[in-house]
Amino acid sequence: MDYLILVNKENPLYTNLKLDLIKVGKNHDNEYVYMEKLAGLSLMRMLDDVNKLFPFEKVVVNSGYRSISKQEEILKYYLEKEGSKAYERVALPKTSEHHTGLAIDVSVIKNGIYIEDPTGIEESLKWLYENAYKYGFILRYPLGKESICGYMYEPWHFRYIGFSKLAFEMKKNNLTLEEYVLEKNKSLQ
Ligand SMILES: [Zn+2]
Repeated sequence: MDYLILVNKENPLYTNLKLDLIKVGKNHDNEYVYMEKLAGLSLMRMLDDVNKLFPFEKVVVNSGYRSISKQEEILKYYLEKEGSKAYERVALPKTSEHHTGLAIDVSVIKNGIYIEDPTGIEESLKWLYENAYKYGFILRYPLGKESICGYMYEPWHFRYIGFSKLAFEMKKNNLTLEEYVLEKNKSLQ
């Protein structure tokens, strides 16, 4: 598994990856959420730790691995519901990072109230921004990087990159995965 795989609008995946998937929990609709094995194990450790610190603001899984055909279904559902506005919030099939099994969307249950898309001001999420690198995760679509990533700020979407040291470097230097991969390719030329 290439943990630095870049999937975005310019770098679509043409076929589903062969992944070793594990269950990382259930979402609010009581459906299992899956991730690539090492990413999932690390995520579960991270959520255990954050949930011990903030018991009244439980961080839960919302969406993990999605196949290309699942993304087609989701897009179709929102197109029927909202028309072309759906394209603003649902990635085109083949361009979603969720196809890699390395991305997770989290939600928060704050004092018993379910917040599907947290805003990022929650104490538990603030802790995750500061500490996710220790578990090999980065906040994938940070504020101010919309033009580079091609996505609006998503305070709920984390991405496993396999190496905590690298995740720390990226956080410290305020680098997105796009910028990191571009830099790396430049230095190889
Ligand atoms: Zn996501």
